[in-house]
Amino acid sequence: MCGIIGIFNQPEAATLAYLGLYALQHRGQETGGIVTSHEGQLHTFNGMGYVADIFSGDVLSRLPGNNAIGHVRYSTSGDSNIRNCQPFTINYSRGYLSVAHNGNIVNAARLRAEFEAHGAIFQSTMDTEVILHLLAASKKDDLVDRLKDVLPQLKGAYCLVFLTESRMIAVRDPHGFRPLVLGKKADGYIIASETSALDLIEAKYVRALLPGEIVVFDQKGMSSYQLNGAKKKAHCIFEYVYFARPDSIVFDRNVYEIRKGFGRMLAKEHPIEADMVVPVPDSGVPAAIGYSEESGLPFQMGLVRNHYVGRTFIEPEQAIRHFGVKVKINPVKDLMVGKRIILIDDSIVRGTTSKKIIKMVRDAGASEVHMRISSPPTGWPCFYGIDTPTRKELIASQKSVKEICEFIGADSLSYLSQESLYWFEKQKPGEWFCDACFTGNYPEGDEEIQKAIQV
Ligand code: AMP
Repeated sequence: MCGIIGIFNQPEAATLAYLGLYALQHRGQETGGIVTSHEGQLHTFNGMGYVADIFSGDVLSRLPGNNAIGHVRYSTSGDSNIRNCQPFTINYSRGYLSVAHNGNIVNAARLRAEFEAHGAIFQSTMDTEVILHLLAASKKDDLVDRLKDVLPQLKGAYCLVFLTESRMIAVRDPHGFRPLVLGKKADGYIIASETSALDLIEAKYVRALLPGEIVVFDQKGMSSYQLNGAKKKAHCIFEYVYFARPDSIVFDRNVYEIRKGFGRMLAKEHPIEADMVVPVPDSGVPAAIGYSEESGLPFQMGLVRNHYVGRTFIEPEQAIRHFGVKVKINPVKDLMVGKRIILIDDSIVRGTTSKKIIKMVRDAGASEVHMRISSPPTGWPCFYGIDTPTRKELIASQKSVKEICEFIGADSLSYLSQESLYWFEKQKPGEWFCDACFTGNYPEGDEEIQKAIQV
């Protein structure tokens, strides 16, 4: 996962991009970067870690111009190192071109191997660099024509925002896997992964980009084009389950409301006698509120999160992840003694977080712990930009619900059903959403994906 931002025709564009990235920090914490355009030059600054740390001191004042793009990275393709920072900029025969990418190109390895076989040199291990090579190799003149020429060769998920000396261009892949929105601020335009970025910089939310849409911003204003080859929509359901911020509007719906609905449905499907409903913070909070409202059981913040620790899961080292749960969450012991607790979380991936939290709750004195998960079992890896482990490491692909319950040490465990996941949608499950992480039905039945699933 990553977060992207684009600012066009706004004074202090770098500062607005910085603030936008701040509001998208949950989408990636490994690296951050901003590129601005000014008087025919692109200016870049990027680094490892949090946005607030990267752009400290006078860094922003060294990024002049009214146009900027920015990126926060959470590696799903390529290693976690400075060479894989975005935006990624090239200086090629037609000038400067910089790009920020959210998503994952499924056939990138094959395309890269083809380029390398012809002597091309890559500077990073990111799939994004393949897009730049394709664009540089295209015979078409205008950048929009080159995008139309090369993007249909890509498989997978991409939301892109490009910056040249004079233009900004945003693209969303034809499946519309990842969110990308358009905003307006005075005479300028904003592109962002989520509306949380628009809110912070006081831009007006205009609309989501359409799947397959190319939007160009230049001196004349904004113009929109469509990539050839419409594909079945496949919005990522995991954005609703876990990834997006609850205050964002994603795929034209408020994420908080959707998550609360998951909790309400969970209470309908899997009620149990208990004294209180406790979320695993922060990801379980809206669903726990929904569960509490539906069940009539009191909602309690029985676990308190230390907000000064990053999302543990994002740290690439397994050792840090294990240590992280304790650093991050602590129980309110007096609340728990002798109590029957319904613990709500959004998902179980490897099962290690739930196991530690349940032990924590029991050690705090709870008499019973009933785990309720506001999504179906995560049994399949994502190849479209969510950082999930291989199939073997996903506990739901190896164990039954009963076995998972034993592993995590809960008194009972239930997941939201596939049907209830779509409480908000009249369409049949899978018709408008990619829910391959729950079903194994990948929207593109590629050879690449089939191979990757075997790992
Ligand atoms: P675990 O079962 O220990 O692997 O961790 C599951 C927890 O990680 C859940 O409570 C989620 O809130 C969170 N989570 C789920 N998917 C992801 C992801 N792709 N990246 C980061 N955190 C995640």
